[in-house]
Amino acid sequence: MAENYDVIIIGSGPGGYVTAVRSAQLGFKTAIVEREHLGGICLNWGCIPTKALLRSAEIMHYSDHLEDYGLKLEGGKISADTSAVVDRSRKVSLRLNGGVAFLMKKNKVDVIWGEAKLSKPGEIVVSKTAKKPMEPQPPVPKGVKGEGTYTAKHIILATGARPRALPGIEPDGKLIWTYFEAMVPKEMPKSLLVMGSGAIGIEFASFYRTMGADVTVVELLPAVMPVEDAEVSKFAQKQFEKQGMKIILEAKVTKVEKGVNSVTAHVEMKDGKVEKITADRMISAVGVQGNIEGLGLEALGVKTDRGCVVVDGHGKTNVPGIYAIGDVAGPPMLAHKAEHEGVVCIEKIANFPGVHAIDKLKIPGCTYCNPQVASVGLTEAKAKAEGKDIRVGRFQFAANGKAIALGEDQGFIKTIFDKKTGQLLGAHMVGAEVTELIQGFVVAMNLETTEEELMHTIFPHPTLSEMMKESVLDAYGRALNA
Ligand SMILES: Cc1cc2nc3c(=O)[nH]c(=O)nc-3n(C[C@H](O)[C@H](O)[C@H](O)COP(=O)(O)OP(=O)(O)OC[C@H]3O[C@@H](n4cnc5c(N)ncnc54)[C@H](O)[C@@H]3O)c2cc1C
Repeated sequence: MAENYDVIIIGSGPGGYVTAVRSAQLGFKTAIVEREHLGGICLNWGCIPTKALLRSAEIMHYSDHLEDYGLKLEGGKISADTSAVVDRSRKVSLRLNGGVAFLMKKNKVDVIWGEAKLSKPGEIVVSKTAKKPMEPQPPVPKGVKGEGTYTAKHIILATGARPRALPGIEPDGKLIWTYFEAMVPKEMPKSLLVMGSGAIGIEFASFYRTMGADVTVVELLPAVMPVEDAEVSKFAQKQFEKQGMKIILEAKVTKVEKGVNSVTAHVEMKDGKVEKITADRMISAVGVQGNIEGLGLEALGVKTDRGCVVVDGHGKTNVPGIYAIGDVAGPPMLAHKAEHEGVVCIEKIANFPGVHAIDKLKIPGCTYCNPQVASVGLTEAKAKAEGKDIRVGRFQFAANGKAIALGEDQGFIKTIFDKKTGQLLGAHMVGAEVTELIQGFVVAMNLETTEEELMHTIFPHPTLSEMMKESVLDAYGRALNA
């Protein structure tokens, strides 16, 4: 007979495993199904291992600037041991993967190992996991359940996403990489072409450039990181170019010829001319698409749109008892969105008091390139397009004591306010450690803070965060250090 649960979650990424923990806390008998790796893309092939690689790149960057800090390296230049850099990143992932196994055990969540498919309302069939191409895989945790039929009143899809491929330019894992292969290079390519300048593309471009590769980025739209505020994109682009990255905007890769150990991309420029660019490797970073296939969604009539499951603000699909959260439930495809959406979904199922539908405008976005980029809320262009009368403040890193002391005086913080109400509509940052700073404005926006409250807040000195206040002051012509 099928084993019965209150809640079954399919997929153990940040969305799935966090939902499982909260589900168990709320008293539900909970199981989570995973076919590949506890912790999903985020812990194994996404957020975390990239940050470990980027940390190596950051240290490399500082070592190239030791003299700026009055330091010297006797006996030559620092060099990277690629396999050791990758090994460190994999170990970081493995540690966190083990952490998820621990959390499942601690919260008495049953882990079911295998590929899940919805067989009928309230029922899934778990079959043997198809072999996955990426090695090495973390070990299958001990004590997991396996193939079989399982039932639950509530089934939450948290199956995540995978790399999108352009027809004719499909990644082959050897010369044309996705983020999987880019995460575990056997050796550093001397030259690299990155197709797409969203967060994933630009983080890898930044990593490989700092590690010494000649990097060219081809972007279809008129700006790098096109979702960011135009000023931030422009500033970041200049910094990347100063570091020696080549950036080609409003251009598209139309065709790729593969050599023995190189690729030649045909790049159609803005003026229609085609330029051939040869590089050792190419990364295809043209976005991700939801894992909706093979789940039995069509048979049950679960609505999907452009590769994602359609949900309301609490993760409910159009079919009672079936929910979706995280990347599979649509953009923004970010780990913290997945986690929050999962908690909102399960708390709503439990009728937990005070649950709010997710407000996508208040989801921060961070890119860990050099310089870092972070933002929340409306860009200036979007605020104007919405017809808002706005005030804009800016503050430069070059005028902040801590930034200068750190040797990180390039960047700025921009804030956008509603002129009438003083409500903070958006904040945009580029520069050192801004991915840690943005949360201050996320809290402020969540509390519907106005400029006055921010001006009355005391920020510690000397910190980079002082620039947040100065940016607010600047929006009202009151900046003190500019
Ligand atoms: C290179 C890279 C860098 C990134 N960096 C960041 C970052 O810095 N910050 C950030 O917020 N986001 C980042 N992301 C995005 C982030 O990884 C995703 O938004 C996040 O992992 C989504 O979580 P999820 O739980 O929805 O799905 P996933 O993490 O994708 O997990 C889904 C899980 O479901 C499993 N699964 C799928 N189908 C089935 C099935 N039928 N049966 C059983 N199991 C199944 C999969 O094996 C997987 O483990 C990055 C992504 C990449 C690729």
